[in-house]
Amino acid sequence: MVFSAPSGSGKTTIVRHLLQKFPQLGFSISACTRDKRGRSEENGKDYYFLTPEDFRARIDNNEFVEWEEVYEGAFYGTLKSEVERIWDSGRSVIFDVDVKGGISLKDFYQERALTIFVKVPSIESLRERLKGRGTETEDSLSRRLFKVQFEMGFQDHFDVVLLNDNLEDTLKEAEKIVSDFLGLSQ
Ligand code: ADP
Ligand code: 5GP
Repeated sequence: MVFSAPSGSGKTTIVRHLLQKFPQLGFSISACTRDKRGRSEENGKDYYFLTPEDFRARIDNNEFVEWEEVYEGAFYGTLKSEVERIWDSGRSVIFDVDVKGGISLKDFYQERALTIFVKVPSIESLRERLKGRGTETEDSLSRRLFKVQFEMGFQDHFDVVLLNDNLEDTLKEAEKIVSDFLGLSQ
């Protein structure tokens, strides 16, 4: 299950909820080169925080299923070892990746993957959510918003478009999508 969307759309909120609800799912911890967000993030839980040199070495070693320079100078990628770790534990993988990463994962896993594009009602609500999260500087906020228009253009490449307006409704809808895909619905 692959959740993609512009930053601030609510992917992390939705994915965390699904992980609590479905023990059958394991979160694919991505590698990235950005700095850790204060005390709210942990290495090996939210991301594997790597130096650019380490990340580059792993690209050269062909250790990634996909990787992207999501923002200038900030690399993010899915490690093959991560997917294997989750499959070995008998669970299905849930990914939180950017829009290009989502399309790459679909190309790679084909019908084994279900890709979900999380859509916000408007750019304005996206700006409010990102500001409300309190994690962005003026600079990183404008970098993220700059990318949004471009990313919105890719929603037709996804299997499902999930509108995240009222959060409670979105979480219910997301649960149904997971149950259907994993064959858990009666
Ligand atoms: P992403 O992982 O896509 O960057 P987050 O899950 O971090 O997005 O959500 C960005 C912010 O928006 C968070 O502060 C989150 O609590 C808030 N948020 C998520 N969904 C909604 C919603 N439906 N309505 C209002 N705020 C939301
Ligand atoms: P953030 O810095 O807000 O944690 O993440 C920024 C963006 O990078 C988000 O859209 C997130 O989904 C994306 N991202 C996280 N991990 C990966 C990954 O492994 N691959 C790709 N392509 N994008 C990722």
